[in-house]
Amino acid sequence: MDEKKTLTILGSTGSIGTQTLDVARMHGYKIKALTANSSAALIERQAREFRPETVCMTDAAAYNDVRTRLADTGIKVVCGKEALCATAALPVDMVINAVVGMVGLEPTLAALNAGNRVGLANKETLVTGGELVKAAEKANGVDIVPIDSEHSAIFQSLMGNSQNKINKIILTASGGPFFGYNKERLRTVTLEQALHHPNWSMGRKITTDSATLMNKGLELIEAVRLFDVTPEQVEVVVHRQSILHSAVEYEDGAVIGQLGVPDMKIPIQFAVTYPKRLPSLSGRLSLFDVGTLTFGRADEETFVCLAEARRAIAKGGTAPTILNGANEAAVAAFLDGKIPFLCIGELVCGCCEALPYSAEVSLDTISEADRAAREYVGAQIQKGSL
Ligand code: NDP
Ligand code: MG
Repeated sequence: MDEKKTLTILGSTGSIGTQTLDVARMHGYKIKALTANSSAALIERQAREFRPETVCMTDAAAYNDVRTRLADTGIKVVCGKEALCATAALPVDMVINAVVGMVGLEPTLAALNAGNRVGLANKETLVTGGELVKAAEKANGVDIVPIDSEHSAIFQSLMGNSQNKINKIILTASGGPFFGYNKERLRTVTLEQALHHPNWSMGRKITTDSATLMNKGLELIEAVRLFDVTPEQVEVVVHRQSILHSAVEYEDGAVIGQLGVPDMKIPIQFAVTYPKRLPSLSGRLSLFDVGTLTFGRADEETFVCLAEARRAIAKGGTAPTILNGANEAAVAAFLDGKIPFLCIGELVCGCCEALPYSAEVSLDTISEADRAAREYVGAQIQKGSL
């Protein structure tokens, strides 16, 4: 067994958060702190099992609820965005950032600035504040280890190759539930269909992003940020089986990739144990059972979000934040039943065209770009011009 690591889990009640606790339970890791937005009952159960020192809730009503629920435990319960950053800065072996959305950026920076290693699932952190995060990683001499399955695969494929030149990154995409659909067919798809991913069980926001292919657009930007490659060096390949999780092509033409069953516990555990590997409860890959692996191109004319993400990273500055903010707002409206599926892409593209971006990247310019993008999307939805 691994030495007893201490973890803080931001977003412990979500899909990645609960799977991180499964890994922690198996290996007997200690939990320093847990955080959530509003899932009071679940975080109470988690806190009673794992006995963290601190629980942080973002939502004020949920905070009051959790404080009452945990009153007999001696666990400190705190509330709000600043408290979330302070929680991320508590000294631990690793902070797992599994919150959803750009709200994850400042806690990521707080964790790095406190000298904590970060296991990063929250891709919106890198899409919006990639430059700031990489600078904080360097300045503090701590690692960010990716948890997103594709980026974990790339990270693993790069191990032992720091001296070697990368030709390109092969970023695999499942294609989502609407692979092969044209715009006409997409016009009538439902929320329920969008939330039914063929290979992965994930939170509602990323599942919607997988259906629009925005997830792959965000991941392209995430790869550029993490691995210091150009957007042109990232090749998106649709691979319906989600068995090859991504790969790296080197100068000599050799391609090194990572394969496995689609189970997020593998990259989550590897982020914590890196560079070591430990036994896991995850299923084993049988290539006999899989039989066939297929590869093809993404349809970027139909799935416009991916093409828009390419344009955003080519522009740079706050353009990816505008893309991300518009997408977060449009996906929230879709999940609330306010707009149909196809409008997500229309709103994102419309917003990226309409709003000017700033070349300067700071927390101020990022939060202003995010605010403006959400406001644009809100106004379009209110106008009902969709
Ligand atoms: P979920 O929606 O399942 O969970 C999100 C977590 O963040 C919950 O704990 C939630 O708390 C918390 N949260 C939500 N809003 C806020 C807020 N405003 N302030 C603080 N905390 C908040 O998401 P996933 O686990 O699916 O995804 C998390 C991140 O990981 C995303 O960035 C996603 O793109 C990435 N990722 C996820 C994968 C997956 O398999 N799920 C795969 C690869 C990447 P509450 O329960 O109270 O709402
Ligand atoms: Mg992924």
